[in-house]
Amino acid sequence: MINKKQRILIVDDEPLNIRILGNALRDMYQISFATSGEDALKIADRDTDLILLDIMMKGMNGYEVCEKLKKESKTQNIPVIFITSMNDEEDETRGLEIGAVDYITKPFSMAIVKARVRTHLELKRHRDMLENLSSLDGLTGIPNRRRFDEFLELEWKQAVRDASYLSLIMIDIDYFKKYNDNYGHCAGDDCLRRVAITLSESVNRPSDLVARYGGEEFAAVLPKTDPEGALFIADTMHSCIRQLRIPHSHSEIGDFLSISLGAASIIPTRNTSSSTLINGGDRALYQAKRSGRNQLKSLILT
Ligand code: GH3
Ligand code: MG
Ligand code: MG
Repeated sequence: MINKKQRILIVDDEPLNIRILGNALRDMYQISFATSGEDALKIADRDTDLILLDIMMKGMNGYEVCEKLKKESKTQNIPVIFITSMNDEEDETRGLEIGAVDYITKPFSMAIVKARVRTHLELKRHRDMLENLSSLDGLTGIPNRRRFDEFLELEWKQAVRDASYLSLIMIDIDYFKKYNDNYGHCAGDDCLRRVAITLSESVNRPSDLVARYGGEEFAAVLPKTDPEGALFIADTMHSCIRQLRIPHSHSEIGDFLSISLGAASIIPTRNTSSSTLINGGDRALYQAKRSGRNQLKSLILT
């Protein structure tokens, strides 16, 4: 993970410029490219580590692209370096003010470009490492509650802007206290790890987040996912856990470990907050428990 090649996105409407930069950087880094601002916004994602961005382009210019990148939660932490023939002090100031980490003017020295790229990618790698250290749950290795809260907040805001569905699934292991009492705390811990991994593998999109919410509770945040989609994922999670066939002889509802799930979906608006969605998920989960456990309930919130 840590040693994989970092990814640079080169954006320039002149293919020759892309080729020159690409050829110089391809040995050290993974390169992707876009010849317009519009395409750049489509390609940039959480796996992009650095963007080299031209300013003067047909259609959307580099400043606009940078501003858009800084607004989206999934791209706002990608460092941007402008590489441009606009060499006024004003142009450079503007570029740095809207969030670029560096500004290189053409014609450039390739040695200097490489050195600056290396520096910014090193910084990015360190930041990613620190972020990982404080956002993962120590026992299961999946995102922790802190990360969950932060992610939900970002996706909530994004969904308000897009007026798109945001879904949440709350998951709780059934009769887990009895599991611990019967098999011991270490076995309980192992079981939590297996459940965490299995739940994480049940979601498909890189934009989904499965976190340990606390104790034997987990939560999944599903951006741009409607009620039907949430139900599908919840159902997949339910059957994947069943298929693990983890013996639980003291469960009151079967011989194997099971989970209860509550799904809630909403198109958020400015005068609601993310706690609406959490409460919805909790209510649905409570219904699933009350109806006998080992099942899922869902709510569509308005
Ligand atoms: P229900 O079906 O109503 O959810 O019953 P439950 O027993 O699963 O729920 P309850 O909240 O009563 O108990 C949760 C148990 O989860 C209690 C605790 O021993 C166990 N647990 C919480 N965190 C951990 C952990 O990190 N490791 C282990 N081994 N067990 C944990
Ligand atoms: Mg619980
Ligand atoms: Mg439980």
